[in-house]
Amino acid sequence: MRALPFALRNHQIVSIDEVPRGLSCGCTCLACGAPMVAKKGDKHAHHFAHYKGADCAHGLETGLHLRIKAFFRARHSIVVPALYLHRQSAAYFQPYLFKYDRVEEEPYVGQLYPDLILRKGQRALLLEVAVTH
Ligand SMILES: [Zn+2]
Repeated sequence: MRALPFALRNHQIVSIDEVPRGLSCGCTCLACGAPMVAKKGDKHAHHFAHYKGADCAHGLETGLHLRIKAFFRARHSIVVPALYLHRQSAAYFQPYLFKYDRVEEEPYVGQLYPDLILRKGQRALLLEVAVTH
């Protein structure tokens, strides 16, 4: 089971660094809603664990998805990297700063289901969040 760096406290997503140690952190699991303990010892990296029972299977991925969505809601721009098409040496487009004023979560566009759509006027940037090591 991977360590959980985020939990829910007072309807806000918080990191392990933002809360006091132990059950007094007042946090719940982002995925299943169970009470969480903030483990902040000296031996292991600080993390949240379910107070009772094993950690749930989707806690980490759910937590990271919610955290990154909150990150984009709080910002209004993103650097879009250059796009290189297969076997093309010149970039299809160069990196640019995309400024947006609306964020749609869990939208669908035709048959696409991105995690987020960042919008500015008629322009839209579709984002899919991938959780990896
Ligand atoms: Zn859980």
